[in-house]
Parts: sequence; C-alpha cells; structure tokens
Amino acid sequence: MNRKYRKTIIAGNWKMNKTPSETKEFMAEFKSIMPKGRWCDVALCVPAVCIPTAVRAMRETRVGIGAENCNANASGAYTGEIAANMLVDAGCKYVIIGHSERRAMGETDAEVNAKVLSALKNELSPIVCVGESLEQRELGITEDWISMQVKCALSGVPEEKIRKIVVAYEPIWAIGTGKTATPEQAEEVCEHIRTVIRKLYGAKIARAISILYGGSMNEKNAFELLAQPDIDGGLIGGASLVPEKFVKIIEAANQPTV
Ligand code: PEP
Repeated sequence: MNRKYRKTIIAGNWKMNKTPSETKEFMAEFKSIMPKGRWCDVALCVPAVCIPTAVRAMRETRVGIGAENCNANASGAYTGEIAANMLVDAGCKYVIIGHSERRAMGETDAEVNAKVLSALKNELSPIVCVGESLEQRELGITEDWISMQVKCALSGVPEEKIRKIVVAYEPIWAIGTGKTATPEQAEEVCEHIRTVIRKLYGAKIARAISILYGGSMNEKNAFELLAQPDIDGGLIGGASLVPEKFVKIIEAANQPTV
C-alpha cells in the first residue's frame, strides 16, 4: 500500500451467496464490529437482489455497496440483464467487471471494455479484474497476458475518468482454491499493472490508481500481502462472507506504510 498517493480499498465479492434476509443479518453483525475510524475504503459487492437491503443497511456508514456485473447497454431487449444506470439508481458505488468466473462463462475482453465504459459514463467505479491461468503462468506469459487484459479493459477510457478505475489482479489459480499467490508473486504482477498504466496515462495517474490483489486473501495472509508497495487492497471472496473475517482484513489494512 502507499496511502500517500492512493486509496486503500478492501472489497468483498459475495458471488452467488446470501439471500436478502441473510444480507440483513450480515450487515447488522458487520456494523456492530466494524472498525471505527477511516482506515481504508470498504466495498461490498453483492448479488443484485441483495443491493437494496445492503444499501439501506449501510446508508449511514462508509461502506460502499457494489454489484458483481452490469450490462454495457443503457436499456433495451436484454432479458435478465442490469444496466449501469440502474445500479447507480439502486445506490451502488462500485461494479465488478471482468471477474474470471464471468470470463469463464464467455465474457470477452471487448465486452469487458464496453462494460467499463458504460460504468464510467454512469459514474460507477469499475473494479476491473485481470488474471492469468496456471497454464499461462507456467508458460511464462503472465505479464504479456495481463498487459493485454489491462489494455483491452481500458481502451477508450479518457484521462479524466481513469481515476475512478480500480484494478484487481486475481490469478485464476488462486481464486477459491486456498492457494494464495505469495506476496512477492502478487507484488510483481501488481507492479507490472502499474507500469502498463504508466505507459498509457503517465506516471502521475499510474501512481494514483488503486490496484488490489484477489485470490484466497484471508484474515491470516492479508497483512503480508497488503504490506507490498503496489498492493493497495484486496478483492475478497470467501472471507467476505463472514463478518469477523472481513473485519480482520480491514484491520490488516491499517498498517503503517511508506
Ligand atoms: C474473488 O471472488 O474475487 C476471490 C478472490 O475469491 P476468494 O477470495 O474466495 O479466492
């Protein structure tokens, strides 16, 4: 982390877990043990049906609610889809875009880019996920792959909007597997992502963008991962479903930085 230049963000990704009633229970418990003081930005990205409950529960807090996906179109014949402006109207501040689980369902880099542009147009902060497979890592093409994903996702994003972007480095082999990237492995790729952004937008902007790590981050390994200079927070799946664990990760973000 480097709090001098950029925000630290701890974001949860609930995936397809919790009903609205369970959301209400979680939020009540989370609120009662949430660390006081403004250490870092906290986001919870929840299933679409849980958004109204989550927004209502967190209204008076510093926790921003987010969605897990959006459609790139503004409106129209897209049965079952949700547009970015609908998420904003429902009270969302963030939207996860390009999660590997959605890419595995067929989401392309072009679609990721269109969704990023639509989110930005509606003043939502996109949490853009990138990450390599184990095969790609073993082939030694991680950096090339990540460069391509970042460049595609940010294509056409104007300089005045880029600061709303959050990038999450999520190695596919570490998501939900219990296999965490080592702090050095995670730092290496997060630093690379910053270099890619520097080449596209210049040093000042690259320095200001928050880059998160995601992949089996939990209350035990968060401190070490967050101590890395280019890891500005976490995107947390499993551990964000349990209030005490999520709170411990938020507490790990409250460590001295350079
Ligand atoms: C995720 O869903 O983005 C994620 C990182 O999951 P987990 O923390 O469970 O690996």
